Amino acid sequence: MSLVEGHAGMYCCGPTVYLDQHLGNLRTYLFEDVLRRTLEDCGYRVRHVMNITDVGHLTDDGDQGEDKMIKSARASGLSVEQIAEHYTDQFFRDCRALRIIEPTVVCKATEHIPDMIALIERLAERGRTYRAGGNVFYDISTFPPYGRMARLDLDELQAGARIEVDVHKRSPHDFGLWFTKSKFERQAMLWESPWGRGYPGWHIECSAMSMRYLGERFDIHCGGVDHIPVHHTNEIAQSDGATGEPCVRYWVHGEFLVIDGARMAKSGGNLATLSELVERDFDPLDYRYFCLGAHYRDQHTFSEQGMAAARSARRRLLDRVAGLAELAAGAEPPGAEELAEEAWRDFRRHARNDLHMPRCLAVLWGLVKDPRVGAAAKLDVLRRMDRILAVGIEEAGSRRAGLAVELRALIERRSAARAERDFVTADRIRDELATRGILVEDRPDGVRWRFINGKSSPKL
Ligand code: AMP
Ligand code: ZN
Repeated sequence: MSLVEGHAGMYCCGPTVYLDQHLGNLRTYLFEDVLRRTLEDCGYRVRHVMNITDVGHLTDDGDQGEDKMIKSARASGLSVEQIAEHYTDQFFRDCRALRIIEPTVVCKATEHIPDMIALIERLAERGRTYRAGGNVFYDISTFPPYGRMARLDLDELQAGARIEVDVHKRSPHDFGLWFTKSKFERQAMLWESPWGRGYPGWHIECSAMSMRYLGERFDIHCGGVDHIPVHHTNEIAQSDGATGEPCVRYWVHGEFLVIDGARMAKSGGNLATLSELVERDFDPLDYRYFCLGAHYRDQHTFSEQGMAAARSARRRLLDRVAGLAELAAGAEPPGAEELAEEAWRDFRRHARNDLHMPRCLAVLWGLVKDPRVGAAAKLDVLRRMDRILAVGIEEAGSRRAGLAVELRALIERRSAARAERDFVTADRIRDELATRGILVEDRPDGVRWRFINGKSSPKL
């Protein structure tokens, strides 16, 4: 049940736009897209909000390190704004290629500084902040539920802390809300505030923007599992600490994409991007299919082999779909529609049971291979499944169906030309078909055609 019947508010932490998003990041956005599509399939109108972090995210998720945007700008010789624009565009290009539905609201941190300042003031009024060394910190001792969602054991963490702790902090887990001083000679991005010219901490942007666009209580907050111990823990302290109420009803976190046993990470030097996959002859939707092969709460291991398997499975699927589209006019065997509907019900049940996509794919393949169900009933249900999966079933059906009509007309014209012994015309049509990847064979039992090289989608 959502807070407002028929509506679901969903906030997803967006990219820090200082480098290409890697396939690991994209796995998280893909799982969020599947969640959104599943909610929509349940009949919810989803208000999906995503932030763009273009200030304040330090190279460490806590208060250590240097602003990622500024570091990237310095390395490239571009301005911070140019860097942000470049990587934001690249991110949304990748999202479109992966059929990730665009969020209802995309909001930039730099355009919401007044909201952040207002929220820090609210926290200050409740006595949750202190000023030290020119900066404003959150005093976690004023918020006893701190770390509960993440099940943090603060004493243990404190004992094991290896990080350099800001001498001005009363507790190592206190975190910066507003900085006017830092150890870096910076800063291209500074704003006036009641605490002096400075810039916000990273965590405050998500509390401020989620509240602005979804209200002080909303349904779902998503992100990758790395956000659990610091970023989302701090967000809860800020949002709930300001209102006195739990702000988010459900936290949903996606597990990592791993490579050789380690998290794919910008800092890890083991990352791959979607453009690199495309250069290696993968379709972006092969990556989407690959991600659907693991449950979002399980780690998923990225490998060339895994990608190749996903590509061939998706191609096989689309070929089957295309074949169905050509046959879809035939009559259905008795009971076929019921069986197809049963598959649809199973598919939905698995999708609604914590987004179990591997089981959804198993149901899909069961239906594709079921000899008791005819082409039209299969195609109808597969198209519905693609509203959640979005792996290209819809077009494979219609493209090939359209192609089939046109090809049939061409093949018939060629047969008529041959019957009239007009071999010039017949050969011209055969050549035209060949340029489109279609091989025509004249057999004693009639004309046959097939796709050259097994290619399923020659260009029209
Ligand atoms: P960032 O741009 O670093 O803020 O990360 C964007 C999103 O990607 C966040 O929700 C992260 O939790 C998520 N993320 C980062 N690394 C991975 C990974 N290896 N696998 C899955 N998600 C990740
Ligand atoms: Zn966030």
